[in-house]
Amino acid sequence: MSELTSLSLTEALAGLEEKKFSSRELTQAFIDEIEATNSNLNAYVIDTPERAIEMAAASDEKRANNTHGRIEGAPIGVKDLFCTKGVRTTACSKILGEFTPTYESTVTSNLWSEGAVMLGKLNMDEFAMGSSNETSRFGPPVNPWRRAGSDQPLTSGGSSGGSATAVAANLCLAATASDTGGSIRQPASFTGTVGVKPTYGRASRYGMVAFASSLDQAGPIAKTVSDAALLTEIMCSHDERDSTSLALDVPDWGQAVKEGVKGMKIGIPKEFRIAGMSPEIEALWQQGVEWLEQQGAEIIDVSLPHTKYALPVYYIVAPAEASSNLARYDGMRYGERVMGDDLTATYEATRAAGFGEEVQRRLMIGTYVLSSGYYDAYYLRAQKVRTRIAEDFDKAFEKVDALLTPTCPSAAFGYGEKSGDPVEMYLNDIFTVTANLAGLPGISVPATLDKEALPLGLQVIGKALDETSCFRVAGAIETAANFTTKPERWW
Ligand code: GLN
Repeated sequence: MSELTSLSLTEALAGLEEKKFSSRELTQAFIDEIEATNSNLNAYVIDTPERAIEMAAASDEKRANNTHGRIEGAPIGVKDLFCTKGVRTTACSKILGEFTPTYESTVTSNLWSEGAVMLGKLNMDEFAMGSSNETSRFGPPVNPWRRAGSDQPLTSGGSSGGSATAVAANLCLAATASDTGGSIRQPASFTGTVGVKPTYGRASRYGMVAFASSLDQAGPIAKTVSDAALLTEIMCSHDERDSTSLALDVPDWGQAVKEGVKGMKIGIPKEFRIAGMSPEIEALWQQGVEWLEQQGAEIIDVSLPHTKYALPVYYIVAPAEASSNLARYDGMRYGERVMGDDLTATYEATRAAGFGEEVQRRLMIGTYVLSSGYYDAYYLRAQKVRTRIAEDFDKAFEKVDALLTPTCPSAAFGYGEKSGDPVEMYLNDIFTVTANLAGLPGISVPATLDKEALPLGLQVIGKALDETSCFRVAGAIETAANFTTKPERWW
């Protein structure tokens, strides 16, 4: 293993700046590492080494000419949900076949404009529906972490499991990801990495394969909170091609990471203390409280009374939106087509062959809750409760600057442990979906190892547009946790 691949983004940028190595050398180190280990980890579903070397060479030239961007020459991975011009983009669904976009997503364009180098496209759950990547058409990535004394392979969470595996196993400096109900934060928690979901509307959804448009948001998975702050700053921008993108300046979040939490008020939502919560998760949460108190924050109990409805609401709203977003995959426009006797039969055959079981389940739920007769009972009601959930947060944020919760109810689990029971799988999202329903920013920071030596993350949720407070708290947790353990290399 090359030492270059284990650097953080910030360290790598310093090394490039000081000419300790070139972007070509750095990029080659990652390409070699991917070549040697991706067959064991299945993080990349397509790698783009020639493009990477070309981009790296251009970056070296820009650095030599002093015309470099903020992350010039930094090799990153891209979740297969972001359209990349000329590079196959499938959202890990069979139905997209070999679809190769003729345009670039805004988020990835922003990264290339600042000098990032693309290593390839990363594995994910089909259309980002899932919490373990077991629904990927390419098979799931493997978590570099294993339980102490066990060689049982574990999932790296989902849906951004490929991004999380790649970052945790040093197959890129950082990766793009997306979060509809927790897909950035949960895989980050499972792999000892940092995941940021910005406020809804901060990052443009243009060129992202849509799942549930009122919830989808892009963000990074990175090795440190500072790396994540820098990437979030670059990924977020106003974009006329996404009508929900906000015309707002992006603050200096990198600065916020170092500010500390002295004088901040941190809320502990009591409804997140769910029945049957494991004592380890409880202890992790308590540890987080103590870390923040020790650094001068005031801890305040708050109530989010509608929390218990968040999962049922999410699993109505998200499938409803998915059922209309995924109507476009009909065999006519993109990817795969399975011919039937007439047009309807062709649609049906294409969709039956192209969509996996979980996607089909969601499309059926979505179509059902939107159908006349059920619309008022399910969809409309869910929308009303969604408003209540958002109001709960508004009230809590009258008293506090940010909230602290665990990211997930458990550490990484094994394949097949939850995939037989969809509800069991959905329960993984219990702490993360509320932030999506209310459009709020959330960050998962690695905090500790559980008794089986697997990483666990703490989640910070902030007011809409107040990523600054989230980054302050995340920075303080990172300092206190001093989480430096790396997975033991077996791959
Ligand atoms: N696990 C959740 C789901 O299956 C969240 C997915 C996501 O955030 N994209 O819907």
